[in-house]
Amino acid sequence: QKGQIRVQTENIFPIIKKFLYSDHEIFLRELVSNAVDAVQKLKTLSSIGEFKGELGDLNIEVALDAKEKTITITDNGVGMTKEEVDKYLNQVAFSGAEEFLSKYKDANIIGHFGLGFYSSFMVAEKVELLTQSHNADAATVYWSCDGSPEFELYEVEKRNRGTKIILHVAEDSKEFLDGHRLKGILEKFCKFLPVPIYFKDAAEEKKGDEAPTPINNVAPIWIKKPSELTKEDYEKFYRELYPFGETPLFWIHLNVDYPFNLTGILYFPKIKQSHEIQKDKIQLYCNQVFVTDEVKDIVPEFLMLLHGVIDSPDIPLNVSRSYLQGDPNVRKINNHITKKVADKLEEIFNNDRASFEEKWESLGLFVKYGMMTDDKFLEKANKFLIMEEALADDTNPENKPKFFTLDEYKNETSALQKNKEGKHVILYTTQPVQQHAFIKACNEKGFKVVKMETLIDAAFINTMEMKWENVHFVRVDADIVDNLIDKQEHNDIVLSKDEQEALKNLFNFSINDLHVTVEVKGLTPDATPVVATRPEFMRRMKDMGAIGGGM
Ligand code: ADP
Ligand code: MG
Repeated sequence: QKGQIRVQTENIFPIIKKFLYSDHEIFLRELVSNAVDAVQKLKTLSSIGEFKGELGDLNIEVALDAKEKTITITDNGVGMTKEEVDKYLNQVAFSGAEEFLSKYKDANIIGHFGLGFYSSFMVAEKVELLTQSHNADAATVYWSCDGSPEFELYEVEKRNRGTKIILHVAEDSKEFLDGHRLKGILEKFCKFLPVPIYFKDAAEEKKGDEAPTPINNVAPIWIKKPSELTKEDYEKFYRELYPFGETPLFWIHLNVDYPFNLTGILYFPKIKQSHEIQKDKIQLYCNQVFVTDEVKDIVPEFLMLLHGVIDSPDIPLNVSRSYLQGDPNVRKINNHITKKVADKLEEIFNNDRASFEEKWESLGLFVKYGMMTDDKFLEKANKFLIMEEALADDTNPENKPKFFTLDEYKNETSALQKNKEGKHVILYTTQPVQQHAFIKACNEKGFKVVKMETLIDAAFINTMEMKWENVHFVRVDADIVDNLIDKQEHNDIVLSKDEQEALKNLFNFSINDLHVTVEVKGLTPDATPVVATRPEFMRRMKDMGAIGGGM
């Protein structure tokens, strides 16, 4: 026997309202994207010759009438015949709704469900629909439903091609009758949809013959070919996304169609160390419909500092977030983005090192963050991570600080800077001004010191000592440096042994810290006469709060 499974639903309101509770505003996204689909379908039919009529000026209108408490969405797309209305709107696949609800109680899933047309009942107590199929022979039909399983469906007087949906907004959804709120939602979700969308508010009379402008940009640049775009196009689009943002450093245009579909543009923002770092600046789209700006599970964490848009129909939006992490497409997309970013950085590093160094203040943070958290990225970044030299004499403009990659630093310092275990010692300073004397002492002996003065650096050093074999970081004022330096000869000491000893005792007495080593170095005019150091290990312990006291 064959038959129809009948679904028991007394009243769909309670389910829908509960179901989509956290995100009622998506009703507009769903209805407008249906309207866009209807227009796109018509274009397709026309292009293959199945629709022979005039396309005319294809567009969508969202009209608000707060007095009448209605929101009306009108399109001049394919429309529906009576049979189609019956098929598409009267047979809601609702069987699984309640089960779903109990299974995915963590409400967040909502808004990605694509309940589509029926999401209108989240805000409307009654929905009316008028539609004329593109097939001119078909009658115009009227459909209405108040959320009970009963509907009305009959033929009415002929009207123009397309579909008009009238939402009678329920008392508890009055907020959507606010013109600014409604327009705001429209701009949020529909800003880059491919069909012009006009917003009309009955309460706001248009002045004079002002031509209406669509709320959307129908051809956002991420869907275009990179070869067709200029630097200005990218910068202009950035300002469209972030009107108050500073010009980005550079960008990556993503464009993949196999094995998953992904387009988008990722911008590298200027990052000032002193400012709050802004995360959640990447917007996720699905076929130009805004989905979310929470891309936590789609973009690797260190790349969340980037700005821009990602558009992919292949990211499953209808499931919970925890599932998303395990999704093979999401993982592939994640890897792809990481690789693209690493490639771009490498490209700039190789082709325009000066510009790379100039941008390092902003780039350093995410390169370091990436190296610490993502081994694939680390592998590539080893080639372009750079460390800025700290110079004791930075008053002389001739003395330009250099930037070293890890390999360059090793080569430059070669055999000189190795510790007892044969590990390469990277000398660094956390405070170039305060540690000036130590940097100077190192420089005088031909040792190179690099700056590690930003917030991320302490963690970076600790992580990299584990990831980079054969490298040991030593702060300039640690005693190991002194040992290294002491392998050289002190030609400049002009004090006698006794005088040196007396000076040393004097310093030891006043510093009064067992962990600090004092050494008399010399007394010539430009040498540092006395150096007091603390072992690297003791210093780190102190930084971690494990021991107190001392300097
Ligand atoms: P989906 O969009 O995922 O198919 P919806 O519930 O949003 O699900 O819509 C169901 C169907 O109703 C659509 O697939 C389409 O055939 C039809 N439909 C909805 N809105 C329109 C419209 N404005 N014009 C033409 N057909 C529509
Ligand atoms: Mg839909």
